Amino acid sequence: MASTAAQTTPINPATAPYDYEVIVIGAGVSGIYQIKRLVDLGINATVLDANDGPGGTWWSNRYPGARFDSESYTYGYSFSKELLEEWHWKERFSPQPETLRYLNYVVDKLDLRDHMQFGCKVAAMQFDEEADLWRITLTDGREMSSRIVVTALGPLSTPTLPRIPGIDDFQGIAFHPANWPHEPLDLSGKRVGIIGTGATAIQIIPVIAEQAGHLTVFQRRANWAAPLNNGPISDEEMASIRARYDEIFAACAQSPAAFEHVPDPRSFYDLTAEQRRAFWDELYEQPGFSIWLANFPEIFTEEAANAELSDYIADRIRQRVKDPAVAELLIPKDHGFGVQRLPLETHYFEAYNRDNVELVNAKATPIERITPTGLRTTDREFEFDVLIYATGFDAFTGAYDRIDIRGIGGKKLRDKWARGPVTYLGMLVHGFPNMAMLGGPQVAAANFPRGSETAVDWLTPMFQRLWQQGQTRFDVTAEAEQAWFDAVRQSYDGLLINKAQSWITGYNSNLDGHEYGHTRYNIFATGGVEYTKHLKAAADGYPGIDFA
Ligand code: NAP
Repeated sequence: MASTAAQTTPINPATAPYDYEVIVIGAGVSGIYQIKRLVDLGINATVLDANDGPGGTWWSNRYPGARFDSESYTYGYSFSKELLEEWHWKERFSPQPETLRYLNYVVDKLDLRDHMQFGCKVAAMQFDEEADLWRITLTDGREMSSRIVVTALGPLSTPTLPRIPGIDDFQGIAFHPANWPHEPLDLSGKRVGIIGTGATAIQIIPVIAEQAGHLTVFQRRANWAAPLNNGPISDEEMASIRARYDEIFAACAQSPAAFEHVPDPRSFYDLTAEQRRAFWDELYEQPGFSIWLANFPEIFTEEAANAELSDYIADRIRQRVKDPAVAELLIPKDHGFGVQRLPLETHYFEAYNRDNVELVNAKATPIERITPTGLRTTDREFEFDVLIYATGFDAFTGAYDRIDIRGIGGKKLRDKWARGPVTYLGMLVHGFPNMAMLGGPQVAAANFPRGSETAVDWLTPMFQRLWQQGQTRFDVTAEAEQAWFDAVRQSYDGLLINKAQSWITGYNSNLDGHEYGHTRYNIFATGGVEYTKHLKAAADGYPGIDFA
């Protein structure tokens, strides 16, 4: 790969009094593209990752049923014609093993592996104000220094276990799906319990229902879900997708969540109730997020519109679940359809028609204790061989909180964000110079790689400017950060997500400071198109950033 170092940086790695110009933390989707851009520029950069290989979330989440909710061909990288021409997605929604293969293929094809160091878990990073460097300490005690640190930690990379007494007492096999064992786990004949009914559990349950001797699902709050409608991609279809790639990515760039699905241009009120039902019949059969993202805009803002759609989806659940009492339990009554992040499913509801699957109402009869042999609810004792805690993540800020990050004056990022994140464009934080985030809090919630590419393509020229000017420090101004926080906060105005009991608004019952009712503004809710406009304005002379 030709280097364009001469155009970019005067810094010679052999003489620089620090180890790297850039350290990227995280070899997931964002980190891979960031290192590619830096290597192309001839920058002395490396990626550190705690895992034993690249892939990030796709390295960790090896649970049965794990797959994209994004159309595979909208999830792959768009920056390389070569990758687009060569890679054949086998399914419309790629399963985890294929995705991990894809990311490894990208790393090898682009010769990036030599720029990655695995088994490197960052414990602390402290900004050295004298030298304008980050000093990094790994959990194994190793130390490194770098002018810039790019944190590509992942928004959902820190699993949270349930806060239930006795969790250490269980004598069987227990894990969070993000730590699903890498070696094959034979569930045949096993008594399996799963706690949680989020997007993760909704993918796992129908798959392991077919394997386990008996499966008990502990549901506290029901969650809306809609069919994924997955299918294979033939050679012919892949050829036509390749021919359409420019069109596909252009469409993603014009849609709020960076999918091909765009909101229906009609108003909810343009149609009769009968016509709306007919439209929803069509959407329900379509692949992916159509029923959510290609729906009427009012479903996200108006209670009445949302309630009618929720009734429609509830009827679909009633049609699919044989036992009416179980169906009613599976229909959320405390929030409307699509107000939380919608899980997509394959035969999820049908899993409850099986004789070996039981749904337990963990709201009516809460789990009191994990026991050595299983768990106890307020009315029953359960025995399990395997317990799965599908209890979610410390979203967005969790991975940051677990590194001791200290900026100017030794101030801790963890303290600054104690009641919720505050950022500039979701990428910079005032008082934490030379640190840039990818996939951090307060970016537009989007089809992840589309957002990653946008962010890397914004940050890299900003770094180049620093180097070209022979400067050593960038920091966002307090005013620019406040203005972005205000924009983020305003982006929630009028949206039904304000009522959501979801990680998107910072709720997690297993974490202090994440109680329902205290919103943590984790995303820029207006969407990708508006976000991109903000990025463009912010790069025009970088008025929000002090370079020194
Ligand atoms: P989640 O949506 O936060 O769901 C966690 C579940 O665990 C909820 O049902 C929650 O119930 C339950 N729970 C937590 N603590 C509990 C306790 N102590 N007792 C009983 N139940 C408890 O987490 P997730 O399913 O891992 O999904 C998180 C996000 O990851 C998704 O929204 C999605 O963005 C992403 N994801 C993506 C994909 C994909 O792209 N294909 C797949 C999986 C996940 P309450 O609601 O009552 O708190």
